[in-house]
Amino acid sequence: MKKLVIEKEKIVRNIQKLKSITNSTIIATLKNNGYGLGLDEFPKLLAECGIDYFAVATLKEAITLRENGITNKIMMLHSTAIREELLALIEYNILPAVGSFSALNAIYEIAKANNIMLEIQLKIDTGFGRFGFLPEEIPLLTQRLKEMNNLRVAGTFSHFSMAFNQSSDYTAKQFTIFNKCTAAIEDAGIEPGVRHICNSSAFLLYPHMHLDAVRIGSALIGRILTENTLNLEKVDYLTEHIEDIKTLPKDHYIGYSNTYKTTRETKIGIVPLGYLDGFGLEKTQDCFGILDTLREIYNKLKNYKKQFFLSVGEKKVPVLGKIGTNNIIIDLTDTTAEIGQEVRIEVNPMLVNPTISRVFI
Ligand SMILES: *Cc1c(COP(=O)(O)O)cnc(C)c1O
Repeated sequence: MKKLVIEKEKIVRNIQKLKSITNSTIIATLKNNGYGLGLDEFPKLLAECGIDYFAVATLKEAITLRENGITNKIMMLHSTAIREELLALIEYNILPAVGSFSALNAIYEIAKANNIMLEIQLKIDTGFGRFGFLPEEIPLLTQRLKEMNNLRVAGTFSHFSMAFNQSSDYTAKQFTIFNKCTAAIEDAGIEPGVRHICNSSAFLLYPHMHLDAVRIGSALIGRILTENTLNLEKVDYLTEHIEDIKTLPKDHYIGYSNTYKTTRETKIGIVPLGYLDGFGLEKTQDCFGILDTLREIYNKLKNYKKQFFLSVGEKKVPVLGKIGTNNIIIDLTDTTAEIGQEVRIEVNPMLVNPTISRVFI
């Protein structure tokens, strides 16, 4: 049976490394099923390591955390103006993000109707073009907030669109806009609360932008788009067993589209892993410019026949031919591998089918 194995000590070491370069509060971002690690053991491990503030992208994730007995602080990453969603957030004690006047009015109506005090977090659009109040809306926002005495601002945040890019003036510009906005909120007599803007990339690249808190997701699992200056470790691997072994003669095609032909008598192993499990889906690199794109093409050509490897014991063996939906063929010619033996592959946990069990070791 396939398993996604997660090595706890690697997560613990990643957290130690992240903590070593900041004094800001770390908010663990747990979107996409906790970056594929699940919403039960992973957040509990984080809490044990002192990360006790979580962020989610959907109401469902928030509810799952609560149902798993997580009592920590949870914030929502995006704004909603839908009344039912706001009611559910309040019911489950999730800090809502408010990034538009429609969302502000909707939550104010709930607070007023129930005669309760509600905490909100303001989201500012500093250039992403998605959720958040625009800088020019701040005067009206603060004016409205002063009239709405059933709402208390617990925090103010924004999100970068280019933080993974080492030479981004745009990130600096977004940061400046954010600081101006929080200053304007303060000048208008509203306390902006906990201020945060960094995701993993910005956290690693721009220490002066850490502010009161940082929102960290991918760095926890050691999969970042920027240079790995902290030596963060990838924390998981997928395991499966060799289902069958056979020998193919020289000059025999393997897989769809006949992209691979054996160059010698070849001992092949059949492993029931494929795209459906998340194998082979990940882009190796994001392309930021023409040079990156050329480098990517060069690497693809160079590695054309040996793009993917998996481990059999201590050995790395190549995948032969195209990856199938459910199966791959591996080259076992130079190994003593046997039917039933375990293989391991390197895979981004976010792409691993959520029905495959997560095992923490
Ligand atoms: C995903 C996300 C993060 C975390 O991003 P990483 O790069 O994975 O650390 C932070 N903030 C927001 C709003 C996000 O959507």
